[in-house]
Amino acid sequence: MLRSRAHGWSKWTALGALLGVVVGMSARGGASNAAESYDLVIANGRVMDPASGLDAVRNVGIRGGKIAAISSDPLEGKQTIEAKGLVVAPGFIDLHEHGQEPRNYQFQAHDGVTTSLELEAGTADVDQWYDRREGKSLINFGVAIGHIPVRMKIMKDAGTFLPVGDAAHREATAAELQQIDNEIERGLLRGALAVGMGINYTAAATHDEIVDVFRLAAKHGASVHVHLRHAGLQEPTTGLVGIEEVIAAAAATGAPLHVVHITSMGLKNTPRLIAMVKGAREHGLDVTTECYPYTAGSTQLESAIFDPGWQDRQGITYKDIQWTKTGERLTAETFEKYRKEGGTVVIFSIPEEAARTAVADPTIMIASDGMPLTGAKVHPRGQATFSRVLGHYVREEKVLDLMTALRKMTLMPAQRLEKRAPMFRDKGRIRVGADADVTVFDANRIVDKATYENPLQYSEGIQFVLINGVPVVKDAQLVDDVFPGRAARAPITP
Ligand SMILES: [Zn+2]
Repeated sequence: MLRSRAHGWSKWTALGALLGVVVGMSARGGASNAAESYDLVIANGRVMDPASGLDAVRNVGIRGGKIAAISSDPLEGKQTIEAKGLVVAPGFIDLHEHGQEPRNYQFQAHDGVTTSLELEAGTADVDQWYDRREGKSLINFGVAIGHIPVRMKIMKDAGTFLPVGDAAHREATAAELQQIDNEIERGLLRGALAVGMGINYTAAATHDEIVDVFRLAAKHGASVHVHLRHAGLQEPTTGLVGIEEVIAAAAATGAPLHVVHITSMGLKNTPRLIAMVKGAREHGLDVTTECYPYTAGSTQLESAIFDPGWQDRQGITYKDIQWTKTGERLTAETFEKYRKEGGTVVIFSIPEEAARTAVADPTIMIASDGMPLTGAKVHPRGQATFSRVLGHYVREEKVLDLMTALRKMTLMPAQRLEKRAPMFRDKGRIRVGADADVTVFDANRIVDKATYENPLQYSEGIQFVLINGVPVVKDAQLVDDVFPGRAARAPITP
């Protein structure tokens, strides 16, 4: 119903081509340029802007990649998207996405994501990371300097994505510690958006080493996005112990702290971890957190989190682990075999109640933790997190309202980064002067299609996505051969 009322892009461009001469003559009278005052107009949509609270039918005029007008009056543009019946929202900002290749960006665009950030694992080489994507990216991209890859580089670990050797299992020497700190500081000087840490994966890193990294982050005003040292249910390796370490580091150094995927850290004790984040904030610390809307995690089977004792620590067993290359659940035998081989698994360990509590909480951001597309049965979260929140949890389950959900995926992530990277003041908002990163979707139809069985499916209901004013999704179809994505980066210190 709503869909049939919404005119598609192709229809409009065709109509515009037919009527162009007539419209141009009558509206402009030959002299005025008013008929083409905007590059693009999103007409008659329900504009929802969490920053201002605006929730009303408006016309949005875009010029030079920026939002140039928001008006109740009709606006004229060279191109028009008819958005009647559709929500016009700031593009979604994903703080946590490991899948940073062109194919991932296509899935993310279909899920409404306009800025995709790898802030947990990060990179060891900030310049190279940005250079590889500059001018070639569908959506905006950004990265943290990563303690994990830096430690792997300095300690010559053979792992590909996560450590498997010394970077996981050996204490760093004084000389190595100095090199790790130097590399992290260099990354910050080169405009890394944040510092990423995964202490559970660098299990032998001492508390001293962690605090020193926080100190560097504080010096450069960068938030530390951290996968906790412990994510289990048994003392002394509970998620609570894990969060105590980093809240203490944040308090003692002044570094802003962002705890990633709080549900896979807290498991059934997630509410206790959320209470720690809120308590820290109420007492003056800059501490935030995020979640994805799923009951499974995903990581590398060869990583340190599956070192002996993992069943007791995580409260799971072989059958709770799915091998992404085949979709099979593991046994004691296949666990040993695949752990030697190395590869990605999906781990069914998060109670639905934990996922639901975090998704519903207005203070917790949405971030996908999407994974590289390494198997036929990869986790669906990188492809479908945002549409799953809006379709399943907002529309179907009604655990939160639409504006609150949008705030958790637009304004809040922008605010998390804007002190360190002022360019984020112009993201996550529908405001004159803001970047024209815009997601237009049908709130009655938006739905995640990617599943654990069939994860490589585009979400539905995202009708138009603009990146810096350039459509990358039109009428729910990807646009070919456009690369309007730009680097989301902190200022570079000479
Ligand atoms: Zn993680």
